[in-house]
Amino acid sequence: MKKKTKRKIVSFFIILIFFIVSFFFDNDFFFKLKNTVLKDINLSKDPFDKIANDFDVISLDDDLIVFFLDVGQADSILIKSQNEFMLIDAGNNADGIKLVNYFKSLGIKEFKYLIGTHAHEDHIGGMDDIINNFKVKNFYMPDDVTTTRTFYDVLDALESKSIAFKVPEIGTSLKLGNSDVNVIYAGSNKEDLNDTSIVIKLIYKDISFLFTGDATSNVEREIINSDIKSNVLKVGHHGSKYSSSAVFLNKVKPEYAIISCAEINDYGHPHEVVINKLNKLGAQIFETSKLGTIVAISDGKKITFKNIETNTDGG
Ligand SMILES: [Zn+2]
Repeated sequence: MKKKTKRKIVSFFIILIFFIVSFFFDNDFFFKLKNTVLKDINLSKDPFDKIANDFDVISLDDDLIVFFLDVGQADSILIKSQNEFMLIDAGNNADGIKLVNYFKSLGIKEFKYLIGTHAHEDHIGGMDDIINNFKVKNFYMPDDVTTTRTFYDVLDALESKSIAFKVPEIGTSLKLGNSDVNVIYAGSNKEDLNDTSIVIKLIYKDISFLFTGDATSNVEREIINSDIKSNVLKVGHHGSKYSSSAVFLNKVKPEYAIISCAEINDYGHPHEVVINKLNKLGAQIFETSKLGTIVAISDGKKITFKNIETNTDGG
């Protein structure tokens, strides 16, 4: 055999072995080349029914995992760092038991932090079910009250489990696994309950997420000089035009913007103006109404996005 041919055959086998090894050891190999990939796998059709692949994600040990759960026109965000869990909001009343079953299927027994960003039903609707079904170490809500049945249900659940209603202090930093949870804002006695929304920045190594509840531009103005620059922004108030002011978005400078809303809603969320502003910034926009539950997985250096198709009716 000629030397040249022999070299070609050897090269071919080296390349072949490289691809086989890559495939078996890490079938995300091709996706990782692209840095960030959406929809690289479908974890399951319905997160409330199936658990197998979701469980693979939740059992990742070292990565920070953030689930923007598709709860229709509402918010619910599950965060795992090492073996500790935090839940920001719990969807509408009808989502409560579904969320409980889903979290149980993932093997969650305890929430280190349970946060109700503010007292509207689409954020604390399912909170009483969460409190009644899991061990809750710390419960936080802003210092404001309403007289709705939903809010009283949360208070009753807290009382029956002897869990304190804590108001987070602006500027404090909490520890979730090996991530930091910085309290940027929590309002009180506001005309608009949305403006009491607890705003949180989650940091894991070089990667950060900003969660804004339903805070409007009024709050955005108040926190404009805080440390709000983040890789991922949970867009305020389901993409409402009364949030996401240009000056605020310019300060956050998100690479990724997550909008939690239903496909059909009475408010016209997300608003075109907001979408245009985010596009102008070059942020990649992911909507739960289109993608279902959106999962961000980060090793502290980069973020990979996956989605779980859901069949919420947008209610
Ligand atoms: Zn809301």
